[in-house]
Amino acid sequence: MQVICLDLEGVLVPEIWIAFAERTGIAEFRRTTRDEPDYDKLMRWRLDLLRRHGLKLADIQAVIAAMAPLAGAREFLDALRARFQVLILSDTFYEFADPLMRQLGRPTLFCHRLLADDAGYVVEYRLRQADQKRRAVEALKSLNFRVIAAGDSFNDTAMLAAADAGFLIHPPPAIAAQFPQFPVCSNYAELEAAIDGAAARLGD
Ligand SMILES: [Mg+2]
Repeated sequence: MQVICLDLEGVLVPEIWIAFAERTGIAEFRRTTRDEPDYDKLMRWRLDLLRRHGLKLADIQAVIAAMAPLAGAREFLDALRARFQVLILSDTFYEFADPLMRQLGRPTLFCHRLLADDAGYVVEYRLRQADQKRRAVEALKSLNFRVIAAGDSFNDTAMLAAADAGFLIHPPPAIAAQFPQFPVCSNYAELEAAIDGAAARLGD
């Protein structure tokens, strides 16, 4: 039995914080782990920024509700789900992803949580587990699934390495260069063909 694990942001939907920065006009939300490698510091800085701009969870969700998945993402995912069980493994938050997941037909999503206070302000974030993408793949393999995974960035490489087959889809060139062991697909058609090839190769 085979399971496909896909990253979300940059693969099926735009980078949420970057889209959020563009839609709110608050450029500081573009800051990523490349600018602040300490994820906890980055998240606390983001939560503080939300608070300073008076943005509540509902405001964020309203902004995200106006976003759409990447062109062709829904069709790609539907085609894949017709043939395989598909899990989305993401480092985003359920409270952010919901409007986009609705547009993707609500595939199964494993990600993290944001906690809001009584007034609706985001006050805390909770990781499901450190390194959850890799550990989810390892858990699936322990259940005797064969796992085929695809992602676009650094936070996917441990998941790709743990899987029986791993692919990058339109990654930044530096990531493709640093991880030559993962075949690179430049669009959904190539990724779908790569997944079908791996599924045939791996067998049941
Ligand atoms: Mg990504």
